[in-house]
Formats: sequence, structure tokens, C-alpha cells
Amino acid sequence: MRHRIAVVGSGPAGLTFARVLHRHGHPVTVLERDPSRTARPPGGTLDLHQGLGQVALDKAGLLAEFETLSRPEGQAMRILDADGTVLRDWRARPDDRANPEIDRGHLRDLLLGPLEVQWGQEVTQVVPGGRDGATVRFADGRQEAFDLVVGADGAWSRTRPAVSSVTPHYTGVTSVETSLDDIDTRHPDLARLIGEGSMAVYGVNRGIVAQRNSGGHVKVNAQFRTPLDWHTSLDPADVEAVRSSLLALFEGWAAPVLDLLRHGTAFVHRPLYVLPESHTWTHVAGVTLMGDAAHLMPPLGAGANLAMLEGAELAEAIATGPGDLDKAVRAFEEQMWARAGKWGRITMSGLERLVSPDPANALALFDQVQPS
Ligand SMILES: Cc1cc2nc3c(=O)[nH]c(=O)nc-3n(C[C@H](O)[C@H](O)[C@H](O)COP(=O)(O)OP(=O)(O)OC[C@H]3O[C@@H](n4cnc5c(N)ncnc54)[C@H](O)[C@@H]3O)c2cc1C
Repeated sequence: MRHRIAVVGSGPAGLTFARVLHRHGHPVTVLERDPSRTARPPGGTLDLHQGLGQVALDKAGLLAEFETLSRPEGQAMRILDADGTVLRDWRARPDDRANPEIDRGHLRDLLLGPLEVQWGQEVTQVVPGGRDGATVRFADGRQEAFDLVVGADGAWSRTRPAVSSVTPHYTGVTSVETSLDDIDTRHPDLARLIGEGSMAVYGVNRGIVAQRNSGGHVKVNAQFRTPLDWHTSLDPADVEAVRSSLLALFEGWAAPVLDLLRHGTAFVHRPLYVLPESHTWTHVAGVTLMGDAAHLMPPLGAGANLAMLEGAELAEAIATGPGDLDKAVRAFEEQMWARAGKWGRITMSGLERLVSPDPANALALFDQVQPS
């Protein structure tokens, strides 16, 4: 018997889940709030690890295409101090496939492939129905029943309340993102400063990270410890006012580093929220969560990887298992909680060390994780 399955959200988790089910010929309904594939800019670049995101792509039959689209050279990492002195400069070998980078837009298109997403479907609530699965309620008043509803709807999941009353809390660190286009042509000095991958500068309780995407596009994140209301007197749409406040926050830093903020276009304000590292719930038949909906953690290179691996694993268990849907979901949850708990602790301690009163902590962390 084919189970009626819906996944809420078409991010890395939802799309990988749907794509692996599709590969096994199992139908799945993908419900996405965005009105279309191109409704929002897809975001920056992601590094997909050999033991996590790449395993998921393999299960989806997409590893070879990923190898064509991804950028091994993007694994390069350069660390500077606030005076602009280069402290570390790691380059990747062209055959190093440990954590190649891929633009989020390219990854989304790769996963979408033949999938038919139902765009413009905003889910407001998921109501468990015991052994009868769960009902999805939509913003336009409709509702639809499924044997299993998978909440892959991100940090502010509307599916999560069906299984857990826990909500994300602020980490004390805010990130403000800006970007630069055609960097090699328009800002060759900054292009040389960043190198082929990422560049990070750490000072006291703050840092600036610049990451190359494809096509000469660079995303810059200014990160700092601050109360949540640091910007209440600022109009976020006033680009020059946001720029001035950021430049004031990083006053005294080397001019070329601050040029990343001076030349940035729009600014996106992103307070970093997390779920507790130990977030689990009492199993509820007919509903589960994966990805950020289940284990939101600091953006330190794990979230999308875990989201994709979870999507692939649950899909494979459903499509190839003996047919007991509830048993497959229970086993999936146990595995997800153990792995996500471990990564939650790693990334929280990483954030504490990267945005810390002593910039030497950040350097020590990189020395620990980068290949020598
Ligand atoms: C700046 C930054 C950099 C990062 N870099 C990395 C990295 O290098 N490597 C890495 O592994 N991770 C990284 N992450 C983390 C990664 O982005 C997330 O962990 C990942 O996107 C989670 O995927 P997801 O599918 O669970 O959720 P999301 O990507 O948030 O997708 C959720 C989807 O659900 C949809 N949705 C939401 N609500 C509803 C609703 N009510 N009804 C219907 N649809 C809904 C949304 O529109 C969205 O499409 C980074 C995060 C940030 C912020």
C-alpha cells in the first residue's frame, strides 16, 4: 500500500526528502508557502560535507551532477586580524571533495529536477489524528488529510507545535548580511583579499566573514554580540543608516576589511536563533519534523547538511522498508535526535568561540578544524 505523505517546505530538507521518494517511485505532496520557485533570492553558498550532505545527494542519485556544479576551490579559508594581517591562509587542492561549496540556487534547482512543488500553499497548522495520520490546515481555510505530514518548514515551523511546544531563542549574536557583485571586475583589491573561498576577520565580540559564491558574487556577514533590540532606532530599509551603524561598530578595523561594508548593497538583519541542543519530543503518530524545524542551530556549516541527510534517510526508510510507516518514523527520530544533538553542541560551542571576547579563541577553533 502506498502511504499518503506530505512534506511542508521546499528547503534542503523537504526537497531532498521528496527527491529520494521520487527516485523510488513513491508519491509525495510538497507544500511550499513561497508563490513560486523564483519568489525569493535563494541565498548564499553552502558547503556540503562528504559524510553528510553528499551522502544525501548520493541517495538521491545526484552526486555526479553535484560534482559538476560545486566549487572545490571554495573550501579555501583565510583568517585575518582586525588590523588586516593575514594569520592563516588555507587553500584547497582541486581534487579535495571534503566540503565543496555550491550556490543555494544551484542546489535547489538540482534537487527540484522533476519534482512538482505545490507553490503558494501556506500551512497554518498540522493536527495529528492518532493512527489516522494528520490533517494539514492552510491559510485559505482548506484542509487535507495525509498518513504522514513531515514538517520541513524551517526555524519558525508551523508544523512543530503538533509535536513540541518548544520555540527558538536568541543566541545573543546578530548577523547583518550584505553582498557585492562582480567583485573581480568592480573591486579587484577586495577580490584578492578574499581569495578563492572565504575570508574571516575576528575581533572582540565581533567578526566579518566574506564568502565567494559563483559568478563573482560575494556575501558578507557582519556578526556581533548585542541585545536583540540594537537596531530599534534604525530604519532597516535605510541602507546608509545601517551602513553607518555597522561602520561605527567596527571602528578602528583595517580599511580594506571595512570596504566590504562600504561597498555592500542592501543589508539583511539576521538575529541568530537556536532551538535547545537537546530538543526531542514524545513521538506523535502521523507527524514528524526534520531540518531547522527540528534542530535549529548556529549557521556554522551543519544545518543544511543535516537537513538533507535526514530527508534522504527518512525517504529511503519509507520507500524501501517493510511498510510500517510509524515504526520507520520512530527509528528516524531516534537517529536524528542523537546526531543533531551532537552537532547542536558543536555549533553552539563554535559560535561562543568565534564571536567571543578573545579573538584568539576563533583562531584556535580554525586551527583545530582545518587540515594542516
Ligand atoms: C547565513 C547562513 C549561512 C548558512 N550556511 C550554511 C552552510 O554553509 N552549510 C550548512 O549546512 N548550513 C548552513 N546554514 C544553515 C542552513 O541554511 C539551514 O540549516 C537549512 O536551510 C535548513 O533547511 P530546511 O529545509 O530545514 O529549512 P529552510 O531552508 O528554512 O526551508 C524551509 C522551507 O519551508 C517553507 N515554509 C516555511 N513556513 C512554511 C509554511 N507555514 N507553509 C509552507 N511552507 C513553509 C519556507 O518558505 C522554506 O522554503 C546557513 C544558514 C544561514 C542563515
